[in-house]
Amino acid sequence: MTNQLIDSYGRRIEYIRLSVTDQCDLRCSYCLPKGFKDFQEPEDWLSYDEIERVIRIFSELGTRRVRLTGGEPLLRKDIVQLTRQLAALPGIDDLSLSTNATRLEKLAAPLKQAGISRINVSLDTLQEDRYKNITGGGKLDKTLKGLMAAKQAGFQPIKINMVLMKGVNDDEVEGMVEFCIEHNFTLRFIETMPMGDTGRDASQQFINLLDIQNQLAKRYELIDSIMHGAGPARYMRIANTELRIGFITPMSQHFCETCNRLRLSADGTLYMCLGQDHHYELRPLLRAGISDDELKQHIIKAISLKPEKHEFNDKPQKLVRFMSMTGG
Ligand code: SAM
Repeated sequence: MTNQLIDSYGRRIEYIRLSVTDQCDLRCSYCLPKGFKDFQEPEDWLSYDEIERVIRIFSELGTRRVRLTGGEPLLRKDIVQLTRQLAALPGIDDLSLSTNATRLEKLAAPLKQAGISRINVSLDTLQEDRYKNITGGGKLDKTLKGLMAAKQAGFQPIKINMVLMKGVNDDEVEGMVEFCIEHNFTLRFIETMPMGDTGRDASQQFINLLDIQNQLAKRYELIDSIMHGAGPARYMRIANTELRIGFITPMSQHFCETCNRLRLSADGTLYMCLGQDHHYELRPLLRAGISDDELKQHIIKAISLKPEKHEFNDKPQKLVRFMSMTGG
């Protein structure tokens, strides 16, 4: 089917990042403030049937890929049920998940069975104390058990997302490389983005990933590589290993011209860009009883609002939303 979702800059929208809750059980220093509790009310969230309907309409317009995210998606009750509903949609052929893995030990196998194919796990350190500090009290052991359960369940690939911060975890680059080689995970380094006050504070620890690439090139032979995925990472492979390393560089080398995604937040707001405020509220329309055809027209209209690019570098004060609100 032809994709009818083309924005004003000619970009095809092929990918929806679906936040199923803004709640999280961690308080990563660059994401949410310590002790933050000011989450949305669950009654404001779209129901699973509403989510399924919106995603079905997107798929009828040409979107093939959906990633469950949040907040922490595995905190939402009956997430396996939603996974089944989305996996059953004929137009969706790639259903993936971003998680902090704290609840993955029990959920990995049921999620795999329900139709999640690819999984990304946030893991910024392999040191217990440091993990506790960065995540505002998280337990590394629990996350690692979740990660190993995902490996056991047979997810392929499993990608580790590591936000690199100067003086915080940049001495673990090679340790994480070795860990990922050992477990056959893909490793992705991410630059900190100035989202909300937390993200802006973390910008003081910003590391340009080109420096990390140069550092790695002194120790390993890096070969340009490609990797199946819908996202913006540029990949290199380490010679004589299966390890692929992705560099996600929203700050030092943005990739807005190839942006193929939208974000649907838990309360049914479509966000056109991670770094801008352009949005379109679907929930009031859904609850007013609009038809599928009307919903399609609204979605097409929403896409025409997608801005050309984020302005993280030029206007770092601009974005007050935390990453967890939009759906990371
Ligand atoms: N809870 C899930 C997880 O941990 O993957 C999904 C949501 S989380 C917000 C998605 C990703 O956003 C994580 O990899 C996290 O590290 C990243 N993130 C959050 N705030 C960020 C920021 N200010 N800069 C860069 N990455 C950020």
